[in-house]
Amino acid sequence: MGSFFIEFRDPLFSVIIFFVIIFMITFFSYWWSKYKRSEDTKYLDRFLKQFNTLPTQSELKVLISKGELSEKSWLLLAHSYSKDGEFEKSIEIYTEMLNVGSYENKKEIMFLLGKTYFKAGFLERSKQIFLEILRVNPRTPQALSYLLLVYEYMRDYKAALEVLEPLDELEKDISLDTTYLKLMEILNSMEFSQDQKALKILEIYKASHQMVYLVYEYLFRVNPSLAWSNFDSSKGELVADILWNLELKDLNLDIISNNGFLRELYSAKGYINLAQSSAIFEFDVLIKLKNRANATLSFEYICANCKQVYPFAFNRCAACHSIDTARVEWSLSKDYNRDFSEENNSFQ
Ligand SMILES: [Zn+2]
Repeated sequence: MGSFFIEFRDPLFSVIIFFVIIFMITFFSYWWSKYKRSEDTKYLDRFLKQFNTLPTQSELKVLISKGELSEKSWLLLAHSYSKDGEFEKSIEIYTEMLNVGSYENKKEIMFLLGKTYFKAGFLERSKQIFLEILRVNPRTPQALSYLLLVYEYMRDYKAALEVLEPLDELEKDISLDTTYLKLMEILNSMEFSQDQKALKILEIYKASHQMVYLVYEYLFRVNPSLAWSNFDSSKGELVADILWNLELKDLNLDIISNNGFLRELYSAKGYINLAQSSAIFEFDVLIKLKNRANATLSFEYICANCKQVYPFAFNRCAACHSIDTARVEWSLSKDYNRDFSEENNSFQ
C-alpha cells in the first residue's frame, strides 16, 4: 500500500511539484492572454461601432449646439453621408443645424437639405424647402432650377413651366427646357388621343428643331408613316436604335434608298440589299456577314455632358440633369432573339 505514495522528502515529489507549478503558470498565462485578446477585440468593435452609427437626435442636438465641431465639418460630414446614399443621416444633420439656428449660411444649408430630400425621393418636402428659400430670396436661380426638377418629377409640367418665367428674368437660357416641358406636358396629357399628341409634338418640333429623340421615339412608335414623311434623314444617327428596331412593314423604302446612312443601316439589319460596305465598322461587318452569323447591334446611351453611360435611352440625364444630351452608341453583340427562335423551331 505504502508503495503507492511518495513521501514528501522524496526527490521525485519535488520534481512533480515543480512540473505542476510550471503547468499552472503556463495554463494561467495562456488563459490570461486569451481573455485579454477577447477584451481587446470587444473594445475595438465598440470603438468602431460608434463611427457606423450616427448619434441619436438628442445627442446630435447637444453636439451641434455645443459648437465643438465647426459648421464646415458638419457640412462635410452631411455631404459625405449623402454621397454614400445615407440620406437619412445627412437630412438629420442639416435639419438639426437649421434648428440650432446659430449658423450664418442658413439659405445654403436649406438648399442642401432641399437637394438631399430631392435625391432621397421626398419630393413634397423638397418642394416646400425650395419654396421657402424663394419666399425669402426670390432671385435664387439654383433653387428655381431644383424647384423645376421637383415639379417635373412630380409630373406637374404646368407648374414647372411657370418656374421658367423667373429663370428667364434672371437671363437664363430656357428655350430647351421650354420645348422639353411642353412636349412632356402633351405626352402625359389625358385629354388628347395618340394621333393628336403626334401632331402636336410634331408642330412643336418643327418650330424648335429640338428634342429629336423624344419626338421621333413617339412618332415611330405610334405612327411610323407620319414619322417618315416628316423625318430629316440627316438626324438618322441620333435615333439609330429606334430605326434599327422598326419592323420591315414600317419602313419607307423611298426615303431609305435616298440616304447613305439609312441604306447602310438597313442593309446591315438584313432588310434590304442596297449597300455592299460601310465606313461604320459594325455596319460593314454585318453587311458582309449577310445574316450568316448570329450577330446584331446592341445599344447604349452616353450623356454628352457628364459622360455617364446608361443601358436605356433618356431625355434628362439623371446624373447631371442636362436635357437632350443622350448620344446613341452601338456595338456588335450576339442575337439572342434569333437564338431563341431557332431553339423554338428545333422543337417543331
Ligand atoms: Zn449627364
